[in-house]
Amino acid sequence: MSLAGPALCSNLSAIRERIARAAQRAGRNPEDVGLMAVTKTFPAATIIEAYEAGQRLFGENRVQEFAEKVGALSGMRGAQFHMIGHLQSNKASKAAEIFHAVDALDSVKLAERVNAAAEKVDRTLDVLIEINVGGEEAKNGVAPNSPELEGILSGAPQWQNLRIHGLMTVPPFTEDPEGARLYFRQLRELSDRLAARNLPSVRFVVLSMGMSHDFEVAIEEGSTCVRLGTAIFGTRAIL
Ligand SMILES: *Cc1c(COP(=O)(O)O)cnc(C)c1O
Repeated sequence: MSLAGPALCSNLSAIRERIARAAQRAGRNPEDVGLMAVTKTFPAATIIEAYEAGQRLFGENRVQEFAEKVGALSGMRGAQFHMIGHLQSNKASKAAEIFHAVDALDSVKLAERVNAAAEKVDRTLDVLIEINVGGEEAKNGVAPNSPELEGILSGAPQWQNLRIHGLMTVPPFTEDPEGARLYFRQLRELSDRLAARNLPSVRFVVLSMGMSHDFEVAIEEGSTCVRLGTAIFGTRAIL
């Protein structure tokens, strides 16, 4: 069941409250933790309601699905739409037209494609590198100490239409959110190590980590952006 109107509004403020409390527990400024509303599977009307409740940052995980909704969202000034799912190279052109950011960059090849596509439509996209912290077969993202990651880092100066500014991860699922803590910590430590290298054309200011069931742990470990779907909108229908 998806939430609408007043229910959605009070849910958003309850979530913002939980974010603030988790930040305070960790001695952090709540304003340093962004809230992304993940609207995959929900209709454009739900996105508009969230916007009207003050939400500005949105995540979608499929190019085709968002392409079908985006026409209905043109009035949402100041809204930011991020592609947070695995992006296939052949969808790079469409993605560069409809998204402000690609948060799950996971290969050199994809970086080249997205950069070329962004150049064509004269846009610059914000980009996060997705890291597969758990080393899971079935998950996307590059391994923490891999040649592919080094390839992305060294390629960055060539990609004038991408702004690489941080890391993102989806850790292995554990029933107990505490199980994700180690992975969140590993992402933050990787980010610190990469930042210390002072590489050209890449910055490490964003740590996108934490979903509905584990976002408070992620905030305690340094997340600057939690991506929440279920916690805001209720359970998704399975597509
Ligand atoms: C769906 C999704 C989310 C949100 O998941 P919830 O558990 O509903 O909060 C966050 N990040 C990514 C990459 C997703 O695909």
